[in-house]
Amino acid sequence: MAIRITRTSSPKPQPDVKKLGFGKFFSDHMATCECVDGKWAEPQLVPFGPLSIDPAAGALHYGQAMFEGLKAFRGEDGKVRLFRADANAKRMAKGAPRLCMQAPDPAKAVEIFHALVALDRDWVPSALGTSLYLRPNLIATEGYLGVRPSTRYLFYVIASPVGAYYSNASGLEPVRIKVELKLTRAAPGGIGAAKAAANYATSLYSAAEAKKEGYSQVLWMDAKEHAFVEEVGTMNLFAVIGDELVTPPLSDSILAGVTRDSLMTLARDKGIKVVERPITRSELEAGTAKEVFGSGTAAVVSPVGELNFEGKKVMINGGQPGPIAKALYDELTGIQRGSKPDTHGWLKLVE
Ligand SMILES: *Cc1c(COP(=O)(O)O)cnc(C)c1O
Repeated sequence: MAIRITRTSSPKPQPDVKKLGFGKFFSDHMATCECVDGKWAEPQLVPFGPLSIDPAAGALHYGQAMFEGLKAFRGEDGKVRLFRADANAKRMAKGAPRLCMQAPDPAKAVEIFHALVALDRDWVPSALGTSLYLRPNLIATEGYLGVRPSTRYLFYVIASPVGAYYSNASGLEPVRIKVELKLTRAAPGGIGAAKAAANYATSLYSAAEAKKEGYSQVLWMDAKEHAFVEEVGTMNLFAVIGDELVTPPLSDSILAGVTRDSLMTLARDKGIKVVERPITRSELEAGTAKEVFGSGTAAVVSPVGELNFEGKKVMINGGQPGPIAKALYDELTGIQRGSKPDTHGWLKLVE
C-alpha cells in the first residue's frame, strides 16, 4: 500500500515527560484516508492540524462517528512496538456496520498505524508507564441533511504521547465508584458493543454527577432491571469471587475490550480460573467480591476500592489493590515495555 507523506515544516518541541498527562499533546503528523461511495483513497501522512469539514457532515448531525484507542511502546531495548493493533482495527471494522459506516480493511488500518508511528517515532516516550497513544477516528463527512447513511467517510489517526497513568511508583491507586442505578450507558439492541462516540456522550452526565459527589466514575448496570453489572466508566469490569476471576459475558451492551481479552488470557496462563458469567448487583452489594477492577487501554487495570449503592458503601479489599489485579497489571505492563516475554505475539515492531 502506498502512503503519501507530507512532512511538517515546523516540528514541535517535545513536551516535558512529567507534564504529559493524557491526550494533551499531539505528535507532528496525522494519518488521513478518505472513503467515497465505498472506495478508499490512498492514505496520507500530513502535518497535524485542523480538519476542514462540511458543516452539514453526517458525523456532526446524526452521530455517525466512532473511534479506537491503542498504544505504541518504547521497549527497554529502545525499539518501538505497537500493542495488538490488529485487534483494534478489527474491532472498528466489526462495529462500523452497526452505525451503517464503512471502516478501512483491518490490514490496511494496521499499516497506517505503523506508518504514522514510524514517521513520529521520536514522539514515543521511554519513561516507565509512558506510551504513544493512537486515536483512530472514523467520521461521516458527506454534506447532506437527509437522514440516511453518509456516502463519504474520513478515517484519520492522531497520536498523543501520554504519561504514566498512576503517579506513584508502586502503581495502582484504587478509585471510589458510584453505582448508577437510574441512568444507563447502553441498552439491549443498542450500539453499546460498538466504540461509537455516542456511547461516550451518553456516559458523561452520570460521570459528572458522580464526580460532584466525590466519586471518580460510575458502575453501569444492565438497562432493563439494573440487576446485573456491565462496565465501570469506560472500562470492562472484573471481580474476584471465591477463587474465580469473573467478568460479564460480551453482549450488545458491552464493549469487547482488547485489555479485557488480554487479561483473561494472562490470568489463564497463571492458572487462575476465568469465568464469563453475569455478575449481580446483590453479589457485589453483599460484599462477596474480594477484588473489583476495571480494564482498558489507558489504565490497563484500575482497582475499585469502594462501591456506593445509593449511600450504602461497600469497601473492596479494605480499599487496597488486590493481588490478582496487581499480578495482571505487572504482567501486561511488563510485556508492553519488554521486560516480560511476549508469549502471545501481541507486540509488533515498528520498522
Ligand atoms: C474502549 C472501551 C473499553 C476498553 O477497551 P480496551 O480495548 O481494553 O481499551 C471498555 N468499555 C468501553 C465502553 C469502551 O469504550
